[in-house]
Amino acid sequence: MPVYNAPTKDMQFILHDVLKVSQSDIPGYDELEAEFTGAVLEEAGKVATNVLHPLNVVGDTEGCRLENGIVYTPTGFKDAFEQMKEGGWTGLDMPEEYGGQNMPYVMGTAVGEMFSGSNQAFTMYQGLTHGAASAILAHGSDAQKNRYLPNMVSCEWTGTMNLTEPHCGTDLGLMRTKAEPQGDGSYKISGQKIFISAGDHDMADNIIHLVLAKIPGGPEGIKGVSLFIVPKFIVNEDGSLGERNGVSVGKIEEKMGIHGNSTCVMNYDEATGWLLGEEHKGMRAMFTMMNEARLGVGMQGLSQAEAAYQNAVEYAKDRLQGRDVTGAKNPDGPADPLIVHPDIRRNLMDQKSFTEGARAFILWGATMIDKAHRSDDKDADGLISLLTPVIKGFLTDEGYDMTVQAQQVYGGHGYIEEWGMSQYTRDARIAMIYEGANGVQALDLVGRKLAQDGGKHVMAFFEMVKSFCKENGGQNEAYDKAFIEPLKAASKDLQAAGMYFMQEGMKNPNNALSGSYDFMHMFGHVCLGLMWAQMAKAARDALDGGASDKEFYETKINTGRFYMARRLPATAMHLARIQTGADTVMALDAASF
Ligand SMILES: Cc1cc2nc3c(=O)[nH]c(=O)nc-3n(C[C@H](O)[C@H](O)[C@H](O)COP(=O)(O)OP(=O)(O)OC[C@H]3O[C@@H](n4cnc5c(N)ncnc54)[C@H](O)[C@@H]3O)c2cc1C
Repeated sequence: MPVYNAPTKDMQFILHDVLKVSQSDIPGYDELEAEFTGAVLEEAGKVATNVLHPLNVVGDTEGCRLENGIVYTPTGFKDAFEQMKEGGWTGLDMPEEYGGQNMPYVMGTAVGEMFSGSNQAFTMYQGLTHGAASAILAHGSDAQKNRYLPNMVSCEWTGTMNLTEPHCGTDLGLMRTKAEPQGDGSYKISGQKIFISAGDHDMADNIIHLVLAKIPGGPEGIKGVSLFIVPKFIVNEDGSLGERNGVSVGKIEEKMGIHGNSTCVMNYDEATGWLLGEEHKGMRAMFTMMNEARLGVGMQGLSQAEAAYQNAVEYAKDRLQGRDVTGAKNPDGPADPLIVHPDIRRNLMDQKSFTEGARAFILWGATMIDKAHRSDDKDADGLISLLTPVIKGFLTDEGYDMTVQAQQVYGGHGYIEEWGMSQYTRDARIAMIYEGANGVQALDLVGRKLAQDGGKHVMAFFEMVKSFCKENGGQNEAYDKAFIEPLKAASKDLQAAGMYFMQEGMKNPNNALSGSYDFMHMFGHVCLGLMWAQMAKAARDALDGGASDKEFYETKINTGRFYMARRLPATAMHLARIQTGADTVMALDAASF
């Protein structure tokens, strides 16, 4: 069976040495002293390792089943869900007035990585509830908040998001689900939604579905979409559960991975629903949930890569094959361990430098969400909005690739279910698709986010990189060469690509959109380059300050050097591709394919 070790030490390094959270002026951050965050992360790590991880393979092999209209989760899920509730993990970063612990989102994100890394399918039940509760918190009336949030924060009731229909996933303007007003403030919702994660299960008393639907007579297309709260059981005035609503499960999808999560076809047959937010402003309300959810999905890319990497390292140290070309390292044994071979090292370094860089990127992103929400900081809000498609698209693409690399370390054994490595690859794959497929993330980045607020946020990003290089360069030659210079070069490539889009995209939008995927990836690399430059600086400062854990900090610097030397130069290749425009991409007629 695979192993899972909670990466709490690395999280503490990022939170305290790099982001210096407790010194930040974001409300609530003064409480994030190292001792406090360490205690929370250690406890969460125990839950991940001891409770959730042992159920990961169980969930994968058993899956969910639908019997007489009821969905049953795999053995052990229900008990584990109870333990999560009892431990207060479900409302960690939710407001105290609804039963949460009001911790900053950055803590919820760090804890979330461990839960997701130890069991992605299980953690999604809670993750979707968190997203639905956030949408009610942001857009609900006081009555709606009081009615639904306490039970959602505690996960007595769970939540879902219902966008997708059989004929539309990306282009939601085509949606057919209808919401007929009843004159008493309620609506009758009818239609079919597909692929609904955690759509039904046996772990909660009620399920609060957030459903996108069109009110007849409203504007055409996406502008006519509204968001509704549709509970599985109607909630009475006194908070007790009333009659069963007109919503049922059509079937559970058979799928490639995340078998422990029930992906349901949901049929709404004149189900009673209540408007959440304003009429025809459903996408706005849903986006509150989707931005947070997209960060959470980016985190899934990281979490699966981390879990797969940990196992690949163990295997590479254990499996004996061939001899080190520079001289035997295990002369008394029949062969040397795999880890002596440069190509295995290259593979493991790809993984290690990705996961540690991605962790810093996600936690930095989470601090921006805290800044935007807790300090009402519009610049932080703009920056995280710009970076959301990068976090989602780049980290899930790369995260998936890393699980494949980890599988590769196992050779044929990686392909055999017994070793558990294929589950990481299968589970990681969905993160590239849901919450907006990655191609659509790239479209959002280039088509919308770059120009948002007159391009202010992308300019702020470049300015931030520039000031970092200015403030930290010129003091240490080795650091400049290994970190500052490659970061400057990569950032220059990214700016050149942005410039190309501005000039050539005006002439023909296909010139920009043919390069959008490359742009998303080069942006991701620059972000990870920035993270590594910051982490190396923090590690150097710690060493200069006489830190006792020399090996940890030196390993950090060396892992960063690898990323800057071997991964970051990808920006030049992406730029070269982008600058060829749409010419070769669009050369064929559709009939020629
Ligand atoms: C396991 C699983 C769980 C899911 N959970 C949920 C859930 O909880 N709630 C929910 O509502 N949905 C959920 N989904 C649905 C998921 O979000 C959609 O499948 C996804 O958004 C893509 O929609 P689609 O499948 O209709 O693909 P399409 O929209 O048909 O897209 C197909 C491909 O075309 C690309 N494409 C589409 N339009 C464009 C364009 N304009 N330019 C360039 N490329 C484009 C896309 O990137 C994609 O690669 C889930 C799906 C799965 C498989």
